[in-house]
Amino acid sequence: MDCIFCKIAKQEIPAKVAYEDDSTIAFFDLSPQAPVHILVIPKKHIMSLQDTEVADGNVLAHIMVEVIPQLAKKFNLADSGYRVVINTGDEGGQTVKHLHVHLLGGRSMQWPPG
Ligand code: 5GP
Ligand code: ZN
Repeated sequence: MDCIFCKIAKQEIPAKVAYEDDSTIAFFDLSPQAPVHILVIPKKHIMSLQDTEVADGNVLAHIMVEVIPQLAKKFNLADSGYRVVINTGDEGGQTVKHLHVHLLGGRSMQWPPG
């Protein structure tokens, strides 16, 4: 399948990996929008949040409840705070059609987002 994030998950193309386990990989965004900008993805190809099945809840819960708080600690965002974003579909600003969770931190965020 011609999916850039599947290729990163299989280490067919390089990325700076911040975390990895059987179901999940996290790597630094190529075009960082904050001092810390990490993408956390299920290794399984899921197109978007809108394309999830109930069984995908396990990996998504793992990402939200375990991986992201751990990464936030590792990169000193736990106290200062951070933002977690899942762009979904065209108007949601999703450009890569493999579900990914952005972890952004290291600066003050604006609201509403653009
Ligand atoms: P989206 O706009 O779909 O929510 O986010 C896609 C993100 O993937 C963007 O922030 C973009 O910079 C990042 N990205 C796209 N291609 C690559 C790549 O090949 N490597 C890495 N590390 N990040 C990528
Ligand atoms: Zn994929």
